[in-house]
Amino acid sequence: GVLQRFSTAAAAEEPIAPPVQVNYTKLLINGNFVDSASGKTFPTRDPRTGEVIAHVAEGDAEDINRAVAAARKAFDEGPWPRMTAYVNTQLDILVSVVSWPSTMLTDGRNLPLQERSRILLRFADLIEKHNDELAALETWDNGKPYEQAAHIEVPMMARLMRYYAGWTDKIHGLVVPADGPHHVQILHEPIGVAGQIIPWNFPLLMFAWKVGPALACGNTIVLKTAEQTPLSALYTAKLLHEAGLPEGVVNVVSGFGPTAGAALASHMDVDKLAFTGSTDTGKIVLELSARSNLKPVTLELGGKSPFIIMDDADVDHAVELAHFALFFNQGQCCCAGSRTFVHERVYDEFVEKAKARALKRVVGDPFRKGVEQGPQIDDEQFNKILRYIRSGVDSGAILVTGGDRLGDKGFYVQPTIFSDVQDGMKIAKEEIFGPVQSILKFKDLNEVIKRANASQYGLAAGVFTNNLDTANTLTRALKVGTVWVNCFDIFDAAIPFGGYKMSGIGREKGIDSLKNYLQVKAVVTPLKNPAWL
Ligand code: NAD
Repeated sequence: GVLQRFSTAAAAEEPIAPPVQVNYTKLLINGNFVDSASGKTFPTRDPRTGEVIAHVAEGDAEDINRAVAAARKAFDEGPWPRMTAYVNTQLDILVSVVSWPSTMLTDGRNLPLQERSRILLRFADLIEKHNDELAALETWDNGKPYEQAAHIEVPMMARLMRYYAGWTDKIHGLVVPADGPHHVQILHEPIGVAGQIIPWNFPLLMFAWKVGPALACGNTIVLKTAEQTPLSALYTAKLLHEAGLPEGVVNVVSGFGPTAGAALASHMDVDKLAFTGSTDTGKIVLELSARSNLKPVTLELGGKSPFIIMDDADVDHAVELAHFALFFNQGQCCCAGSRTFVHERVYDEFVEKAKARALKRVVGDPFRKGVEQGPQIDDEQFNKILRYIRSGVDSGAILVTGGDRLGDKGFYVQPTIFSDVQDGMKIAKEEIFGPVQSILKFKDLNEVIKRANASQYGLAAGVFTNNLDTANTLTRALKVGTVWVNCFDIFDAAIPFGGYKMSGIGREKGIDSLKNYLQVKAVVTPLKNPAWL
């Protein structure tokens, strides 16, 4: 199934992306592209039109079994977990480091130190080399602006891989002093086979956030992509193998949640599970883990993040940031600033200017230059967003602008703003995951802290003020995993991301992400000759 991207023929100007082909539609198991055991396929669609891009092999429980078996073998017998720094510092109790296992395999093959790092670095180079094709594939399958994919997301993937390449030889244990003549080693071992389930809003970045730390720590992986966006991960996994990844280390299964996803979450031979998606599904996978083998689970779930604008704010700047915080990626961000709290003294001016900004937003074919907003991912999300908009109107919020679909094909939604939103309204409580900004008025700092924290979620928050004391109070008081002060959506490989409360468990990226993929083992050996201690 080779297809050419059908371009922006309607647009006068040239498309800005290179033509792209769909070369990989099968499951990637043990280094090979294979059909699903059942022979079934499912269509993946272009959100601009709803038309089918390609039919993709549909994995289910049987394919998950095959993929887990490959990952298991790669972990138990393959080189990947054994490509690791080994520093033998004898008995220097305070500074010595140890690692698991040694670089010497039982058959005598010596694995070069830093080979794992080299592979990840080569992978980063290949991501850069294929930047534009990857971005085009992502836009085609997901609908996000091509310029965003090409200039932000794919480069961030490469940065992530280089960051994790740097960790590979810095993951080690410790030797600690103990009470009594004992040599105590604390070993940090890879956990084993990691199951990873990712969503459709950032298919490439979610792939990178998941495989980066798991690979750096020496685990093997079975990753299930979202059924809406299976294409870019298959292409990327192919590049990973081109970089020299041993077979079976990363396996990619396309398929649906209740079949492939549930089989992965409940698999007895999967040692760890990482999930990103909705809170409801997060609860399901946690339960599936509990009912099977109690594999540890990290969850990155939904949010209803406050963006708080104080009265000392430069209103124009605040409008621009709050607009970006909500509308970026068609509003399909778990950390979207979806409750815009504005101080009463600047409220009217803010609403008026926010409306003007939304009206200026460039919505259209994501392959066209300068487009800020493409279509929503699919008809289900599109209809769900329109239902939330109706609910906002019904509950008495003021529809300032937008409120309907845009055009008559594809899944485009008008940039929409509600003002006079009250805390109890559905649009202020639930995740809309679309281009719908809800503006709420507040009077003072303590009130807005209470209201911002009165949510089941705690993923992120934005704070906009020039007063250092106000900023410090808010950053300490907000019960969220990330606070952006006078900025929003600043991400980096080194910055941990994750949620308080029902926004998740654990952190991704940064040093904290390594913990998710390491076991800790204490080894205690008596020291028999006190004369030398
Ligand atoms: P979802 O949580 O159902 O899907 C995310 C992933 O989980 C997909 O790969 C899906 O196939 C898988 N999945 C679904 N059911 C499963 C099950 N029973 N067992 C194992 N895996 C399963 O999200 P969705 O239905 O695509 O979107 C619904 C809502 O979720 C959105 O409107 C949005 O509010 C939220 N969402 C959040 C994020 C995020 O980044 N936090 C991403 C996507 C969607």
